[in-house]
Amino acid sequence: MSSTVLVINSGSSSIKYQLIDPASGESLASGLVERIGEPEGRVEHRTGGRTTEQRNPVPDHAEGLRTVLNLFDEVGPALADAGVVAVGHRVVQGGRYYDSAVLIDDEVVDVIDRLAPLAPLHNPPNLTGIRVARELLPDVPHVAVFDTAFFRNLPEAAATYALDREVAERYNVRRYGAHGTSHQYVALKAAAMVGRPSAELRQVVLHLGNGASASAVYGGRAVDTSMGLTPLEGLVMGTRTGDIDPAVVFHLARNAGMSIDDIDDLLNKRSGLKGLTGYNDMREVHRLADGGDAEAILAVEVYAHRLRKYIGSYAAVMGGIDVLSFTAGVGENDALVRADAVAGLEFLGIEIDPERNVAPSREARYISPDGARVAVLVVPTNEELAIARQAVALL
Ligand code: ADP
Repeated sequence: MSSTVLVINSGSSSIKYQLIDPASGESLASGLVERIGEPEGRVEHRTGGRTTEQRNPVPDHAEGLRTVLNLFDEVGPALADAGVVAVGHRVVQGGRYYDSAVLIDDEVVDVIDRLAPLAPLHNPPNLTGIRVARELLPDVPHVAVFDTAFFRNLPEAAATYALDREVAERYNVRRYGAHGTSHQYVALKAAAMVGRPSAELRQVVLHLGNGASASAVYGGRAVDTSMGLTPLEGLVMGTRTGDIDPAVVFHLARNAGMSIDDIDDLLNKRSGLKGLTGYNDMREVHRLADGGDAEAILAVEVYAHRLRKYIGSYAAVMGGIDVLSFTAGVGENDALVRADAVAGLEFLGIEIDPERNVAPSREARYISPDGARVAVLVVPTNEELAIARQAVALL
């Protein structure tokens, strides 16, 4: 059997995993542990078209991962025979330290821990996953792949907030970006699709999932991105505001009697599509809009307006645009959002073919007409595969 990588994405109450053959891209098994620490836990393990489910309390991440390893033993594929050459861990925040994947040792663990104030919801559970996986799988190398790495070398002009320098430096306030693994994967794939050397391509990538972000990639290098110090900045998302006047925070603190934690929760978890319509899922928002719901119609317009602003500003940053790629849950599936996002952008050379846009497909594909100045693409992202490939490349 060929070499495989076990990819782990450890969250505060969940662990997602996938066993991947990085050469072929084949997923040999995948699954998730949910509701860790809650009275009723759930584990789902999928392999060979079959899903095994267990419902038991999962007190902590160590127990969760043990359950997963048992499932590999009982249901397969047996990890001992699967040629596991590495465990790849998704880590959200790598700060200014890492611009590519890194072999995990105690020093790396320490850095991820120290970066927790920049990603308080993500780095600590990522680290918990790393700790338990290193304990339970001590004989294979563990690799950290950071969501920020692709944006580590943004030009200073794009990464710097116009904030008092001393405060910014002391508290590490700058733009780090996120979703970098996906943006990098999609930009590479898009360059291969258009068949031109990525060195000369001006690309915009729109990763539109529940979280959403845009990036400008010039010559294979990220030159701007919409997420900032945290994933709150930028596009309208499922539950996040994206760009907002920071004075909204002062206004609410002074006039609405809200604490900083209340406002944090409001902006991150109760805003975006959810704040505008009550639903964070774009399918639900469309359903409401189709029924004439004025708030849902407005929400779709706000979402698309922000997208057009970002596409235009990134074309300005790069002096033009050659490739525009849509990815993630909304970007890959939602023809309406794609059409709205590019409406009126013909002056940039951006056009889509209406039939290509609505043709259902799970494959990477063109949705611009033949001969269009800008290649508009739908490129399904695969962060797990990207993590697996980065892990083996490092080794
Ligand atoms: P995450 O950010 O959680 O990784 P995904 O990239 O899986 O998210 O995207 C999830 C989101 O994609 C859902 O919240 C939903 O809004 C959207 N989505 C999924 N399928 C469709 C679809 N067919 N049409 C429109 N939106 C969709």
